[in-house]
Amino acid sequence: ISVTLNKLDLCRWMIPKTGGMRVPGIIYTSEEMLREMGDDQSPQQVMNVAYLPGIVKYSLAMPDMHWGYGFPIGGVAAFDLKNGVISPGGVGYDINCGCRMMTTKLNFEDIRDHVRELVVALFQNIPTGVGSTGVLKLAQKEERQVLTQGSRWAVSQGYGTDEDVETTEDYGVMTGADPDKVSPRAMERGRDQLGTLGSGNHFLEIEVVEEIFDPDVAAVFGLSVGQVAVLIHSGSRGLGYQICDDYLARMVKKMGELGFDLPDRQLACSWLESTAGKDYLAAMACAANYAWANRQMLMHWTRETFEKTLQKAPRELGMKLLYDVCHNIAKLETFPVDGEMMKLCVHRKGATRSFPPGHPALPERYRKVGQPVLIPGDMGTGSYVMVGTEKAYQETFGSTCHGAGRVMSRAQATRASAGRSVAKEMADRGVIVMASGKGTLKEEIPEAYKRLDDVVDVVHRAGISRKVARLRAVGCIKG
Ligand code: 5GP
Ligand code: MN
Ligand code: MN
Repeated sequence: ISVTLNKLDLCRWMIPKTGGMRVPGIIYTSEEMLREMGDDQSPQQVMNVAYLPGIVKYSLAMPDMHWGYGFPIGGVAAFDLKNGVISPGGVGYDINCGCRMMTTKLNFEDIRDHVRELVVALFQNIPTGVGSTGVLKLAQKEERQVLTQGSRWAVSQGYGTDEDVETTEDYGVMTGADPDKVSPRAMERGRDQLGTLGSGNHFLEIEVVEEIFDPDVAAVFGLSVGQVAVLIHSGSRGLGYQICDDYLARMVKKMGELGFDLPDRQLACSWLESTAGKDYLAAMACAANYAWANRQMLMHWTRETFEKTLQKAPRELGMKLLYDVCHNIAKLETFPVDGEMMKLCVHRKGATRSFPPGHPALPERYRKVGQPVLIPGDMGTGSYVMVGTEKAYQETFGSTCHGAGRVMSRAQATRASAGRSVAKEMADRGVIVMASGKGTLKEEIPEAYKRLDDVVDVVHRAGISRKVARLRAVGCIKG
C-alpha cells in the first residue's frame, strides 16, 4: 500500500483521510528526512492509527518517527474518553521510558582530566545490560509501594530529595496505579531490576553545554555554556515489558468480539471505559511509577559516583535535577478541540510532552517559561534541551519529538560497523564510551540514528518546542 503525503508547509505533511481512517494523519518532518526513511513503514502506521475508534483531530508523528509495534515510534494520538480506546502498542513495551537531566556547578575544565575515571566508576556503580539485576530484591509489599508511589518511594528510601520530585513530570507519580492489575510474572520480573539501566539504547551520559539559543529560558533552567550535565535514559525494565505483553495478549483475544475493522492486529485495544481498558491503565500507571523510582535511584548513584570520584561535596557539585520526562506513556489530559476543552487520553509513544508557559501541570519554577523538553541524539553527539510551547498545546496535544530516532535497524547498524572499533571512533570524537552488551556499540553507532540537528530543527521551526541549549556528549555508559 502506498501512502499519499500532501505537503502542508516546510515541516508538515498530511495523509488525507481515506478508507477506514476516521481522521487524517499529520507528519512533522523535512523533505530530506522523508526521503531518508526509505521503505520504513511508519507513515503507513500513522494511517493505521487513524482507524482507531474515538481518535480526535488527527493521527500525528514527529520527525524522529520510525517503525514500531502497531503505532509508529514518534507517534502521538489522542482519544475521546467516552468513545475512544486505549492501545498498549500506542504506549510501547517500555512503559514510561524517559529521560532526566541533571545540571551541575561543574565546568568542563573541572572534569576534563577525569572523564574516563568517571565513566569507569559509573559503569561499576550502575547495573547495565539486558536482564541485569540491581542491589535490591524487593519484598512483595515493598514492590507494591514502588508501583503506587513512584519517585516518592525512592526518595523515602534515601535516594534523593523532595526537590527532585518537584522537577519530575507529574511529580514522579501517576495516580490510579493498582498493583492488583499487574500479573505475578510482571511482579516477579520487577523484583530485582529496580535501579538498573537496561540494555542497548538506554544510557547514562556526561555532557557539556555547547551553545545556548535562548538565554532567558536557559537561565531559568540553570544552563550555561561550558557547564557539565548528566542525561539518564531508562524505563520500567522487565516489569513494564511484561505488563505490555500481558495486556496485548488479553486485548488481542477480544478484538474479534469488538468488531473493529483495523488494518493491523498490533493495534489491539480496548474501550477506555471497559474493564480491560481500565485495568490496563491501572497497570500502566504501576509501570510508570516503577520507571520513575528507577530513574530516581540511577540519579542518586550518579551523584554518589561524582562525589567519590571527584572528591567533592554535594554542595560543591550542585547536581540538580533539571527535569524528568516520560516518552512512552498514555495520559489523561485536557486540550482545546474545536474551541472546547476536552478531556482526552493522549498516547505518546516516542514523543515528549511539551507543555506551554502557564500550564498548571508545570512546577512553579518553570511556570513562566514552559516545560523543559529533553531530546537525546546518539552517543557521539549529545542532546538538546528545548522548551514547551503554546503551539504544541494547540496543535500536537502538547507533544514534540523524543530523540533523533533510528534510521537503521540494529542488524543494519551491526553490518554497517563490521570490523570497526566503535569505542575508538568515539574516543577520537571526544566521547569515552563503555557498554555491557557485546554488540551494543555496533548497534548504537551514530549513523544508526537520524541527525539530531535536523530533527530538532523541524520541531523548532514548526514551533512545537523551541531550542534552549545544545549539549555535546563527553562520556557515556550504555546497556
Ligand atoms: P528510544 O527511547 O526510542 O529507544 O530512544 C530515544 C532516543 O535516544 C533515540 O531516538 C536516540 O536518538 C537517542 N539515543 C540513543 N542512544 C543514545 C546515546 O547513547 N546518547 C544520546 N545522547 N542519545 C541516544
Ligand atoms: Mn526504553
Ligand atoms: Mn526511550
